[in-house]
Amino acid sequence: MFEEYFVDVILPLPLKGTFTYKLEEEEFNALTIGCRIAVPFGSKKIYTGLVYHLHQNKPELYKAKPIQQILDSAPIVTEKQIRLWEWISDYYMCSIGDVFRQALPSALKVNSETFIKRNDHPVDEKLTKEEGYILEILAKKSSVSVEELASTLDNRYILKIIKQLLDKNLIVIDEKLKQKYVPKIENYVRFNEDLKNNKEAFSEAFLKLDRAPKQKEIVMRLLTLEAENKPIKASKIIKLTNTSHGILNSLVKKNILNIYQLQTDRTYTEEQELQPIFSLSDAQEKAYQEIHQSFKENDISLLYGVTGSGKTEIYIQLIQDTLAEGKQVLFLLPEIAISTQLIYRLKQFFGNDVGYYHSKFNNQEQVELWLKTFHNQYKILIGARSALFLPIENLGLIIVDEEHEGSFKQNQPNPRYNARDTALVWAKIHQAKTLLGSATPSLESYYNSKNGKYGFVELKQRYGNVLMPEIQIIDLQKAYKKKEIQGHFSDILLNEIRDNLEQKKQIIIFQNRRGYAPVVECQTCGHTPHCPNCDVSLTYHKVSHLLKCHYCGHTQAQPKFCPSCHGFNLDTKGLGTEQIEQELSLLFPNHKIGRMDADTTKGKHGFEKIIHAFEAREIDILVGTQMVAKGLDFDNIGLVGILKADTLLNYPDFRAHERAFQLMTQVAGRAGRKKDRGKVLIQSFNPEHNILQQISIYNYKEMAKEVLYERRQFVYPPFNRMIILTLKHKDQVKLDVASNLLAQHLQKSFGEQLLGPETPPIARIKNLYHKRILIKLINPKKIVSAKKYIEQILENFKTIKAYRSIQIIVDVDPY
Ligand code: ADP
Ligand code: ZN
Repeated sequence: MFEEYFVDVILPLPLKGTFTYKLEEEEFNALTIGCRIAVPFGSKKIYTGLVYHLHQNKPELYKAKPIQQILDSAPIVTEKQIRLWEWISDYYMCSIGDVFRQALPSALKVNSETFIKRNDHPVDEKLTKEEGYILEILAKKSSVSVEELASTLDNRYILKIIKQLLDKNLIVIDEKLKQKYVPKIENYVRFNEDLKNNKEAFSEAFLKLDRAPKQKEIVMRLLTLEAENKPIKASKIIKLTNTSHGILNSLVKKNILNIYQLQTDRTYTEEQELQPIFSLSDAQEKAYQEIHQSFKENDISLLYGVTGSGKTEIYIQLIQDTLAEGKQVLFLLPEIAISTQLIYRLKQFFGNDVGYYHSKFNNQEQVELWLKTFHNQYKILIGARSALFLPIENLGLIIVDEEHEGSFKQNQPNPRYNARDTALVWAKIHQAKTLLGSATPSLESYYNSKNGKYGFVELKQRYGNVLMPEIQIIDLQKAYKKKEIQGHFSDILLNEIRDNLEQKKQIIIFQNRRGYAPVVECQTCGHTPHCPNCDVSLTYHKVSHLLKCHYCGHTQAQPKFCPSCHGFNLDTKGLGTEQIEQELSLLFPNHKIGRMDADTTKGKHGFEKIIHAFEAREIDILVGTQMVAKGLDFDNIGLVGILKADTLLNYPDFRAHERAFQLMTQVAGRAGRKKDRGKVLIQSFNPEHNILQQISIYNYKEMAKEVLYERRQFVYPPFNRMIILTLKHKDQVKLDVASNLLAQHLQKSFGEQLLGPETPPIARIKNLYHKRILIKLINPKKIVSAKKYIEQILENFKTIKAYRSIQIIVDVDPY
């Protein structure tokens, strides 16, 4: 009997399951799991697929098509990764194709819809005829889709040719939508080559410098540094010689030195001298030993260490221990852009063993990091949640820092995964340990450590025994009644700001809303401008005189008069960072006020610039949104002010209290970290609020106990699991009917565990109406079968023709 060969392929599509194609015998023998192949799909499309399973079972229901092409001779995805993807797709109820699409850099998964363009790399290799043809097309057109190329060229080979061009670094993927990542450039110095090679001219120039001793010093120093054969930063030599840019520039003008530029924050940085590891304080040492101890019994441990307790140094020790065992470390943090301080610290100790993954890297850099990781060239990988998808082979330890952070959850698109939870599975696949670290642990992790599922280690004091900042709550109602308030600042807060400014201490003011004011309102008729696409009022941005929608990005000019009654009485309500910045600059005209929010950190290195300015004390008062809460480590902050705690406490979400506690404690933790004790002032209309009282005495455990008690009473996580189905459509009536029907079907099985369909707080976003169905799963043993059941109902529902146009989003653990 004659043999037939098949391959099951993962395609980057939101469709269930894998897809079977036919192979020739030689192809079958050449392929292994994790290799890429080009396959046709639908009538015209071509995709990069990933080999999932090789077999000889002929599909019974359809005729398998042949593949187009093998793209890899060796795998680029590991079997361990595929196991992780399977778990994600099962648990988060999405297709494995969704995970594949998320996991791989775009340059590794080219398909018909991909656009490519020429880069500025010169052609210095021989090209095949087809390669040359594509480059010719790209010389005339700046960007072209693979689909278009396929229809002009012989379509069977297109992905292979594109891969060759990518490998030769002659083209790049064109990601128009993606903000371009512009690498940081630094100035370096070297001698003018011509001068240096001409001994006489050189010594003549050198002699002339006798009258400029500072310049001479730079030259001398450069001569010694040159011997080390490493690039020399301009800033470094200025610092070493205690000179200035001006002095260096005179040497450049005299044509003795040249300035040249290098990129500093690519995946590779220049060799630097490694720092010895700090020795731990007694308290740190104790916690460190306890972690080791707890890892003997548990795979997962929670390190609960107050802000400024020096968790990072403990991580560094643990990383070293893991490396000593010959294993790798994955370090996950909430956001890479705001972690420059931490990356810098790790790089100081581990140098180029550290790789870090940044979603803003261009696709070449992403591919470079991916392949280097695959080939075991890093010992430590750092990144935000997407670093979970790197092909690490030999993990010994995963550290999830600030594990309570909401940004570990991907809200859109699929897979809607939580990186902290997924990290535990990734560690299990490697039989590695996981350390979760936080000063304000999520209640899930805390609960798991209390009931013995995780180990628990506590670090109660700050490094250097600095006292935790003193927290005082200010009664806003009283302040308004007694007129002890200017703008949004109570007199108590203003006095404290003045004191700190006098002592040359820096100040952070926290307000969790950007823009100037969230609402514009006509005082005559009450009209409020709304977004035309979403059911939300527009936020006023005073600096730009614009009204902006924070949901869809819609922007319009601030009207001069009310569009409804034509009156001129437009006023603003609510409070954003822009307004506070303005108030402060009026109150303290002689001090520098800075602002850190999504608007000011957009640019290339927006975030770093503000941090550097603050560090260099060029900013006295920094106003910011929750960005200022995240792990910044400065040593001169005397005061932290929270302008209005109430908005955080009254947020309509079962997590509001937990989050409010975490956020305010973290912001407070920025104060007085090194030497002197800091102070925190929290303004509120409700100063007796339980949560505020608990924050003021750092009583995390009491907060946790109370909130967990409530959660148990009302059956919220961690005492249940939740799944939210969101239905979206532009026709409100159709959406109503459809969501009622779907809820009815689900109700049969879930009864009272099903809530809705309800209209979410924002009923329409980007012109689509929203409806939500919430399912609470109480019995942990039935979660798997419940998910299967929901999937089945959704499959059936999608076959109803009238409702096919309705988008349904499934979100597991939607928080
Ligand atoms: P956390 O992350 O727990 O809030 P950090 O790790 O940022 O705290 O540490 C707070 C500060 O104390 C940092 O500036 C850090 O450099 C310093 N520090 C912590 N441990 C040590 C140590 N063992 N030796 C020297 N400095 C330390
Ligand atoms: Zn909008």
